[in-house]
Amino acid sequence: MAVSDHVDLPTFMEGVKKRNPYQPEFVQAVQEVAEDIFDFIADKEEYHAQQILRRIAEPDRVVSFRVCWEDDNGNIRVQRGWRVQNNNAIGPYKGGIRFHPSVTESVLKFLAFEQTFKNALTGLPMGGGKGGSNFNPKGKSVREIMRFCQSFMTELYRHIGADVDVPAGDIGVGGREIGFMFGQYKRITNNFTGVLTGKGLEWGGSLIRTEATGYGAVYFLANMLATKGEDLVGKTAVISGSGNVATHAAEKIVQLGGKVLTLSDSGGFIHDPDGITQEKINWVKTHKTHRRGRIQDYVEAFPAATFHEGKTPWGVPCDVALPCATQNELLGEDAKMLIANGCRAVSEGANMPTDLDGVHVFKAAKILYAPGKASNAGGVAVSGLEMSQNSERRAWKEDELQQMLKDIMAGIHSSCLAYGDQGGGYIDYVKGANIAGFKKVADAMLAFGVV
Ligand code: NDP
Repeated sequence: MAVSDHVDLPTFMEGVKKRNPYQPEFVQAVQEVAEDIFDFIADKEEYHAQQILRRIAEPDRVVSFRVCWEDDNGNIRVQRGWRVQNNNAIGPYKGGIRFHPSVTESVLKFLAFEQTFKNALTGLPMGGGKGGSNFNPKGKSVREIMRFCQSFMTELYRHIGADVDVPAGDIGVGGREIGFMFGQYKRITNNFTGVLTGKGLEWGGSLIRTEATGYGAVYFLANMLATKGEDLVGKTAVISGSGNVATHAAEKIVQLGGKVLTLSDSGGFIHDPDGITQEKINWVKTHKTHRRGRIQDYVEAFPAATFHEGKTPWGVPCDVALPCATQNELLGEDAKMLIANGCRAVSEGANMPTDLDGVHVFKAAKILYAPGKASNAGGVAVSGLEMSQNSERRAWKEDELQQMLKDIMAGIHSSCLAYGDQGGGYIDYVKGANIAGFKKVADAMLAFGVV
């Protein structure tokens, strides 16, 4: 009879590191999950015998491909594209596409791994995937971006499908890029199908998809505060980023009565002690998205604000913080500074914005701390609803979708409580999210046998 493999956490992580050399982001994401899962499965023989965590931490496949395109000066440019299909135990692969020069196979593998648990938490039937390219959209003309998107899709189309893998947007990929990619998919396949989400409303998109990630992160924050009998009225918020997630998180904080003090981009952060109102958020949206401008220009439009070049905003005293830019943007020292300055709750809009040291600091301080896989799941949840609407050939109304988003975020919060309640009023949301997400995927995998 086979003896099941009960390795301990350090031995398991040694194996992950050995099999994934030069992939620090992926190893970090696996470690963060494994720290909680090892405790949970300690007495669950079947998960060990079937090597479930080992299998989830090995993508079903990684497709890597060349993307050639011609710039406006007639130069031929060559980029690398990827699609990581991590796990489809509970539904078609689902996850965004990122265009950013920092994209590597490691970054996309970490994102696809995280996405697997996040999608499970939404309660919708979606597996985990992620894709992208090291293409830098900054400074490119619209025609260059279109040619790049078309070339990217010319390879990607054969790996995706409404029941196979349904990509969406992420950093550097918004409605315009989704449009270019959907157009090319349709042109190649002659098939109008819900193969991408984040589409325009006229061609199969869903209301509130654009707002959903940022709004959802704030709904999750409100759910956490409610466990302490508090709400957002009068609370000060520090937010990083100034893209889709950050601006919509800011908008919802303002709507719920809070005061937003900061936004940022890769050049630094702005601090507006008067508060970043809806009018100012609208200015940022236009400036960053449509004019492709820099956040530092904010201080010319609103002179009470100051710009802090090359810095992150975590030193600004606040009640709540929402990292909404990118991975590893909030380090252990930043986490300590936030707590020392009185921050009581952190809701991650970005994926893995807090490094492992920071996660340990928040856990040790027992503050309300939501990991991105729980708090930023609103975006993919509404993407899941977009898939349902496409399959049904119908469009739900805005108030119906708003309610569904709120309910889904409340459901994720309840799942975190179910597995993360540590007693004495402390909820370990990281543990709760990891175990709830893992259990759903793991149980489906057990049902399929060894495949
Ligand atoms: P956008 O491209 O709209 O905005 C990204 C923002 O982050 C910009 O302000 C950008 O600044 C900043 N940023 C990017 N890289 C860096 C960096 N290395 N250092 C500092 N700032 C940086 O992306 P989104 O808002 O869509 O995504 C933000 C985060 O949220 C990502 O982690 C993404 O994976 C996550 N997320 C997004 C979802 C969505 O629905 N869009 C869903 C779930 C998670 P600059 O303009 O200077 O590049």
